[in-house]
Formats: sequence, C-alpha cells, structure tokens
Amino acid sequence: MRKCPICEKGELQKVEDITLEISGYVFVVKGERCNYCREELPYEEETERVVSVSRKLGVWPEPLKLYRHLSKSGGGLIFRVPSDIERQMKLDESTEISIAKIGNKMVIEQEG
Ligand SMILES: [Zn+2]
Repeated sequence: MRKCPICEKGELQKVEDITLEISGYVFVVKGERCNYCREELPYEEETERVVSVSRKLGVWPEPLKLYRHLSKSGGGLIFRVPSDIERQMKLDESTEISIAKIGNKMVIEQEG
C-alpha cells in the first residue's frame, strides 16, 4: 500500500468512485484515496480518458479545469502540467511563464 503524499499519515486505497467535474459534466473515475485526509488522486490514464470523452461531448477545450496535486521535491512544491495542456499550448522546458496571484487563484501565463 502506498503512503499518501499529501498528509504522509494515511495510506492510499484503490477506489473507483472519484468524481471529476468538467463544465458541469461529472465523470466517475478510478484512482486512489487516502484513508486519513480523504485526498483523491485519480489515475493519469483515467484523467486522460475523461479529457477525450469531454472532447466528444463538445465541452472541451474551454473551460479547462483539471484537479492536480502538488508534489514535494527538494523542499519546494512541484506543479506538473497536464500533458494535454502541454501539447495544446506547445510547452517545453524552455517555456517562460509568469505566475500571478489573484485573490485565491494562481494564474500561470505563458510569456512571449
Ligand atoms: Zn492523506
């Protein structure tokens, strides 16, 4: 059993009832849920599946909202860009971004 990367107290259990909401459509996906803090981590391939289903429903690409968790590395927090956004916005490791805090939102913009 994998330890929860969020609270580091609980263990991740396989579940099949995680809900993702995109433009009012609710998708039920498989993933893992922490038995302590209740954080849900859908499997990457499940998230991808939701993305392709959304496209067929015509609710893609805008607005685009995916739920991601930050991970920790070397004392800092890492945000991983979903591969779909990476392709769509043609991002790579040389992409310059700016991060703005607007209220309780973080807006990441591609520079240039
Ligand atoms: Zn947890």
